[in-house]
Amino acid sequence: MPEKLKVGVLGGTGVVGQNYIKLLQGHPWFEIIDIAASPRSAGKTYLEAVKKKWQMDMMIPDTVKDIMVRDVQDYSAVPDGLSFVFSAITMPSKDDIRRVEMEYAKKGIPVVSNNSAHRWTPDVPMLIGEINHAHADVIPIQQKNRRFESGGFVAVKPNCSLQSYLTAIYALEAAGYKVDQLIITTLQAVSGAGYPGVPSLDMIDNIVPYIGGEEEKTEKEPLKILGKIEGDGITNDDSIKISATCTRVPVIDGHTAVVNVKFKSKVPKKNQILSIWKNFRALPQELDLPFAPEQPIIYLDDNTRPQPRKDRNNDKGMAITVGRLREDNVFDYKFVALSHNTVRGAAGGGILNAELLKHKGYIK
Ligand code: NAP
Repeated sequence: MPEKLKVGVLGGTGVVGQNYIKLLQGHPWFEIIDIAASPRSAGKTYLEAVKKKWQMDMMIPDTVKDIMVRDVQDYSAVPDGLSFVFSAITMPSKDDIRRVEMEYAKKGIPVVSNNSAHRWTPDVPMLIGEINHAHADVIPIQQKNRRFESGGFVAVKPNCSLQSYLTAIYALEAAGYKVDQLIITTLQAVSGAGYPGVPSLDMIDNIVPYIGGEEEKTEKEPLKILGKIEGDGITNDDSIKISATCTRVPVIDGHTAVVNVKFKSKVPKKNQILSIWKNFRALPQELDLPFAPEQPIIYLDDNTRPQPRKDRNNDKGMAITVGRLREDNVFDYKFVALSHNTVRGAAGGGILNAELLKHKGYIK
């Protein structure tokens, strides 16, 4: 059996970081040897650093308990032989995160990030494996632009709520039904705010109708994901207009999106949409990557679904579950979509991106 690639988790003590620790247990290709976090956690064993804030539904794995947590910015302590890092850090400013992630890349360590800091950097790919894996080809341009000569780069994944519906929209576009306008209303889980996140008195018996910065991300990030590589970076496809309202609801995991869609000219019939979703497959499925869901879009013909508690874990939390497709009196159609925000929308999506980047030879 070939030796596993040695990986690190920046921000390994946070909610997304803990999901990486959980999901990477027993991964066939990757093995965690390094965990980094804030100076508050640095110098402690992983067990000491997280024991009061561990949120996973499993014990802290023995494989990581004794790893000594490093300060993210202590580059001299990066262990030898590290192939790449997953990044799930928060820092006081996005400039700090941009600087730290580029510093790793400069040192020859690829960064597969969950952070929003580099999503708008034109030569950084923002990947959803089933949609725009081809954007990985901007990596050599990034390496040339920034003189990264030892194989380092930064690749990011988009905002967690996008995963709930964008693949379903992309499948229709890829089948020739061009989308003109979308109205998206999200109902986002509390784990999306990290730990400790939203105070319990704000959240129990309540809905918060605003999440800072989230509506802008929902309206703009799809345009880069659907864009193309041109010149020195990725150019947006701004042919779709999106209007978003993002709310926080008292659900632990699982972001739901209510989607109204208007097509440009050719409008599919309902049974055509269902058939496109059912048969949609992309490169992660063709390659049978370890974290690829077998069927990326699962449609449930039941008016009471999808529901976060019942459907977020479908296909190891990596599938999106869609329901309630029906004609709309104002637009053409409306439907409800759901994905697991800390798995498909965060750590699982990051792992799938790393698997794709390994397949494409960018991670070695
Ligand atoms: P979190 O629970 O607050 O965890 C933050 C992590 O960053 C911890 O490991 C923390 O270390 C570390 N950190 C904090 N301040 C730092 C500093 N000054 N220097 C270095 N490290 C520092 O947040 P999260 O929910 O895991 O989110 C992490 C990132 O992923 C965010 O950018 C978020 O937007 C993004 N994201 C989250 C989700 C989600 O569903 N939660 C989904 C997609 C993307 P300590 O433990 O030492 O404080």
